[in-house]
Amino acid sequence: MESRERFSKFDIGACNCGACAEAPVETIDMSASRRGFLRGALVSGAAVAGGALAFTAPRAAYAQTTMTPDAALQALMDGNRRFTERKMTAFDEDLSILKQNTVEKQEPFASVLSCADSRVPVEIAFDQSIGHLFVARVAGNITTPEITASLEYGALVLGTKVIMVLGHGNCGAVKATMEGKAVPGQISALYAPIRPAVDQAGGDVEVAIKANARNQAKTLAQASPVLAGLIKDNKLKVVAAHYDLATGKVALLS
Ligand SMILES: [Zn+2]
Repeated sequence: MESRERFSKFDIGACNCGACAEAPVETIDMSASRRGFLRGALVSGAAVAGGALAFTAPRAAYAQTTMTPDAALQALMDGNRRFTERKMTAFDEDLSILKQNTVEKQEPFASVLSCADSRVPVEIAFDQSIGHLFVARVAGNITTPEITASLEYGALVLGTKVIMVLGHGNCGAVKATMEGKAVPGQISALYAPIRPAVDQAGGDVEVAIKANARNQAKTLAQASPVLAGLIKDNKLKVVAAHYDLATGKVALLS
């Protein structure tokens, strides 16, 4: 029997939200082969030294929305249709009721990994109000260890049923990677994760943007044992999509 370490619920519930602090905990075993990934993505290197890994996560991960992954994806797409048809309903929800329901806990049904671009207003584009979407944003909608950790938290602890990687037209991060010019500061840190999509695109920016969304979705689904396990158990779906700046329409990418 390999030695194990237990992490307190606060290790994974570091945001101090109600769901983390109050929910009963459940131990999840991670094989030693997964430690390399987790070292970068979920916990500090010091915390995973030696033996197989176990950590505790609130049981709330399995007690949140009862939506299926397909229903969660449909809810996103229905919201985007309301947005593009200018028939939004999110702002009709009573703010006081929303606050009462979300101060102590959050129960988002979907996660979205979006570019930081100001022209992609995620909650508005899906006609969603407070507490419904767990949104991670970074230029180029790339999967850094911190982004992956956030989305693992959203799915495993908060119970989001779908993760949508949302690329968008005319993405500056993808264009900059394609141009490959020297840039100041740490901006070029965005290039490496986007580079495979640029290499696949034959010089076409829009093709690269869509390829990048697909690549990042694939990385999430395959490189994260946490997410892969949820997908295998039919508790999660990871999809790539594209946001059209002119129409506001979100199209799923196959
Ligand atoms: Zn962008």
